[in-house]
Amino acid sequence: MKEQLLREYARLAVRTGVNLQKGQKLLIQAETECAPFVRILTEEAFAAGAFDVIVRWNDQLIARERFLHADDSLFDDVYPWSVMMNDQLSAEGAAFISVSAEDPSVLKGVDPDRIRRFTTATWQKNDKFYARVMASRIPWNVLAVPIAPWAEKVFPGKSGEEAIELLWDAIFRAVRVREGVDAVAEWEAHCRRLRERAEKLNAYAFAALRYENALGTRLTVELPEGHLWTGGSEKDEKGIDFVANMPTEEIFTAPKRDGVNGVVCSSKPLALNGNLVEGIRLTLKDGRITDIHADEGEEYLRAEIEIDEGAHYFGEVALVPYHSPISESGVLFYNTLFDENASCHFAFGQAYPTCLEGGADLSKEELLARGLNAESNTHVDFMIGTSDLSIIGVTRDGKEIPVFVNGDFAI
Ligand code: ZN
Ligand code: ZN
Repeated sequence: MKEQLLREYARLAVRTGVNLQKGQKLLIQAETECAPFVRILTEEAFAAGAFDVIVRWNDQLIARERFLHADDSLFDDVYPWSVMMNDQLSAEGAAFISVSAEDPSVLKGVDPDRIRRFTTATWQKNDKFYARVMASRIPWNVLAVPIAPWAEKVFPGKSGEEAIELLWDAIFRAVRVREGVDAVAEWEAHCRRLRERAEKLNAYAFAALRYENALGTRLTVELPEGHLWTGGSEKDEKGIDFVANMPTEEIFTAPKRDGVNGVVCSSKPLALNGNLVEGIRLTLKDGRITDIHADEGEEYLRAEIEIDEGAHYFGEVALVPYHSPISESGVLFYNTLFDENASCHFAFGQAYPTCLEGGADLSKEELLARGLNAESNTHVDFMIGTSDLSIIGVTRDGKEIPVFVNGDFAI
């Protein structure tokens, strides 16, 4: 049974995730622990007509050793051949699948400054590649595979294989892979529902959203003129549909860079570069984060926001009902790919150009001029949704529309 579900999951990633076309190349980025699943993924990619499947392996324990012990200068640069690989394949229109399998505490004890410098160098050197990704020019997909240290964190008291099996069950439910069901067809209907919801929000063309809950969030988020809500699938530069995240339950757009004011509190722990950050409380004035607090892991959060000026501003506003499948499963995944799809969230750092009408064809300067946070070497989602969250939409002529009441959509 498990074998069948694994194959269906791999087929879903290839057919719906990146929607691989005949003759297209596929680059898979994966952890060494995920090799058995990556082999199935490779088979499915060739079955779909892949020209070639290239796998780039990472081993997080080796990465940890490098962060702890390698020469300090290493973290200010990236090897040119790794940049060349991304540049060349993305320029050719290859598809990219990233298999996430992160131990949420794997970089505990690592100098936050090394992580900050390395993230900066990675984004700066790969700027062409990330620009293609952020503007959806190429098809890309992120999905996850359980590993023991992650599964044991999600299911305390369970260990090894038992924890991994429980996490597989939770992942299959979240990505709508079930026995006897065509997951590809299931996702077509799911994406259609998300698109319909986005269209509803687009019709309102809100000027601002006002957030409030008992946790302490009191935040006004202005939206730029011409902003677009999207959800489910998007189109690459050839007009082919792809789904960037599996699972996905969110409808998202970009805020006005200098139009966010107030206080926002996180409602779930954030797994940030191999460290956990809990109890986040950010204060923003004219869009800029002016005060940073976290009950735990504050130094890692600070290092990430200090990456550059753009990281001090929000780049994403996303809506997810409190009563949505992943949230109702009650599982806290300690992995943003899942937790952000169980909760309303924001991201600080770079916005997606596609959140603005015609945005994919605009330069950074043009995007900035139209109010988008278009320049940052990071993008980090953090969860803020609660069962009592209220969001009021304010239209451009001053009408107030309840968008969220008690944590769920009211429109
Ligand atoms: Zn998001
Ligand atoms: Zn995001």
